[in-house]
Amino acid sequence: MIYDALVVGQGLAGTLITWMLQQKGLHVYVVDPGHERASSTVAAGLMNPITGRRYVKSWRFDDLLPVAQQVYAAWEKELGIKIYYDYGIIRSLFNRREENDWIARTGDPNYSPYMLDQVDLSTYADHTIPPFSYGEVQGSAQVHIGRLIRAFRDRLREEGRISETAFVYQNLEITSETYQYENCQARRIIFAEGAAAAQNPYFADLPFGGAKGQALWVRIPGASFPKILKQRIFIVPWSDDIYWIGSTNANTYDHDLPTQEGRTYLQDRLADILKIPFEVLDHKAAIKPTVNDRRPFLGVHPKWQNMFIFNGLGTKGTSLGPYWAKHLRDFILKIGTLDSEVDISRFT
Ligand SMILES: Cc1cc2nc3c(=O)[nH]c(=O)nc-3n(C[C@H](O)[C@H](O)[C@H](O)COP(=O)(O)OP(=O)(O)OC[C@H]3O[C@@H](n4cnc5c(N)ncnc54)[C@H](O)[C@@H]3O)c2cc1C
Repeated sequence: MIYDALVVGQGLAGTLITWMLQQKGLHVYVVDPGHERASSTVAAGLMNPITGRRYVKSWRFDDLLPVAQQVYAAWEKELGIKIYYDYGIIRSLFNRREENDWIARTGDPNYSPYMLDQVDLSTYADHTIPPFSYGEVQGSAQVHIGRLIRAFRDRLREEGRISETAFVYQNLEITSETYQYENCQARRIIFAEGAAAAQNPYFADLPFGGAKGQALWVRIPGASFPKILKQRIFIVPWSDDIYWIGSTNANTYDHDLPTQEGRTYLQDRLADILKIPFEVLDHKAAIKPTVNDRRPFLGVHPKWQNMFIFNGLGTKGTSLGPYWAKHLRDFILKIGTLDSEVDISRFT
């Protein structure tokens, strides 16, 4: 059988593009050795419309949100798992100036659907040390990416559509019509290896970035926090008494493993916030596939017309991913053109 596409990498990006192509009836084969170093299994998966110290709306969020909601709802139904939690984010404000800036923003009609100045603190009031005041972000959510990509992988496995090995670039044979990799022959190839794509010889000229992030999973007995709290770090409800705590962010690093320094930083920040005890259960690290101009990498190889890339989801994969996977899918199927802001030809 000749597959319509071979996808290399099955993190969030590879999962999305595989699914999008399958939705159009294409037969797709995937190569991924496992998610051991995947950013997708370390991420909190937040979709956060309002970020940074100046409370700026995330790039194109109004367009991204409906597509993301539609895709995650479709997956929940198809895979029979819960992955999408529409949690609000309580945002700590540390002084009068921050509070004034927040209130001023809530009056802007472009921002008012996403920002509240009245905050329901729920159980946070009893268990945390308050800052100066709070604002609340709406239209935010948390997506369990790890749960999603594991369930999608199980399905690929059942269908015999995945090779659980690392793709060896030197073993790819390219003819005018097809891409041959081991026993798989495909009409197209799409690379989606996250930060590991910096080693991809076919896209070696792209300015890959990379930022190391570390996170903890902690048990906070009796907390029952029903929303996300951002008070320097994020506290994200995960399951029962368990919370995701993160993250650190480093643009330079020697390796992608968790460090004692990262663990201590996150533990200390959490201890600054909580009035009640907590227990660290797990600590993970990964490299986020960031790009200097903070725009995804979508496009086609300059020489091989059916070789594509889907990368650069950076720190915002859950909100960016579904919209841009759909966009790339339409480009691959020649029913759409690429937006110049995300097209890798912007670097030539
Ligand atoms: C601590 C932390 C917190 C984060 N928080 C958030 C958040 O709150 N919200 C958000 O949207 N994003 C967040 N992110 C970022 C998010 O993880 C990414 O945007 C997204 O998951 C990237 O997906 P990806 O598929 O491009 O890369 P990855 O998830 O890294 O997946 C790449 C896949 O490619 C495979 N691969 C690599 N090389 C090869 C090869 N040679 N052959 C075959 N397969 C290969 C890997 O095994 C892996 O499965 C966070 C990341 C970290 C580390």
